[in-house]
Amino acid sequence: MATSVITGGAGFLGSHLCGFLLAQGHRVICLDNLDTGTLENIEHLRSEEFEFRHVDCVDQLEVTEPVDFVFHLASPASPIDYLRLPLHTLKVGSYGTHHALGLAKFKRARFLLASTSEVYGDPLVHPQREDYWGNVNPIGPRSVYDEAKRFAEAATMAYHRHHGVATRIVRIFNTYGPRMRLRDGRVVPAFIGQALKGEPLTVFGAGQQTRSFCYCSDLIEGIYRLSQSDYPAPVNIGNPTEFTILEFGKLVLQLTGSQSQIIYKPLPQDDPKQRRPDITKARKLLGWEPQIQLAEGLAKTIEYFRDKV
Ligand code: UDP
Repeated sequence: MATSVITGGAGFLGSHLCGFLLAQGHRVICLDNLDTGTLENIEHLRSEEFEFRHVDCVDQLEVTEPVDFVFHLASPASPIDYLRLPLHTLKVGSYGTHHALGLAKFKRARFLLASTSEVYGDPLVHPQREDYWGNVNPIGPRSVYDEAKRFAEAATMAYHRHHGVATRIVRIFNTYGPRMRLRDGRVVPAFIGQALKGEPLTVFGAGQQTRSFCYCSDLIEGIYRLSQSDYPAPVNIGNPTEFTILEFGKLVLQLTGSQSQIIYKPLPQDDPKQRRPDITKARKLLGWEPQIQLAEGLAKTIEYFRDKV
């Protein structure tokens, strides 16, 4: 039986990955400091094969048993969280990644880094291919996340080149689904929560910026396939169907049947104007592409949030 360590395992994507790996027959050790993750996310996973440890990977990571895979997902991921926790976000991307890589090296385990489309910043190349180096403001408010993840990618490649660790890097584009926090500030829970409560939808700027939304089960399947591959360079995983934020808001209103108005708020600094993954690599290397279209995934997510508002 393979043993997987998942940092950030009680978070939105971490908890889905824990469940997926348990279903694949892995023993799962879930590590989380519960800053943005919750015990509620992993309650249903309780079993012999699942263990939760309340640790912060910024501190030393100690695991005594043999480990086959280290999935390093720990980090605040929503703009309001990483703006609230700027230093911790930098630390988890740097010290946390260093510790997770050290654990993988010591255990001779395979390591997978959860990176992000934010490494492309406010991209000047569209759609974003993995060989684009990005357009990141290194001192702007988002830089604590963007640069931490860019450092994490650099550290991962250095462990691969200099220590021979089997590493994988997934660049995750906007992903949504059940277990996002209603108040995490990201556009999907924000709009769904507002629509269900009959409050106005807060569109930032003119709503002409674009995002491409991937349903969580598609994303987890892509991460798993990448972990099983032998490809060490970064791979984009995301849904390439692109929407403006205004179009997205109107879809949420339609699917919830809400009468909410749309109001406009200032665009946050350095908010990327466009984002859409080029998934040619994932298609070719992993035979992966998303299966769930936005309307279908949103309907499931709306159901999840209905009794939480
Ligand atoms: N956004 C918005 N209203 C909100 C929250 C977000 O218009 O209440 C916009 C935000 O400015 C961005 C997009 O929606 O252009 C996606 O934001 P999110 O925080 O979900 O993630 P990002 O892709 O920026 O990391």
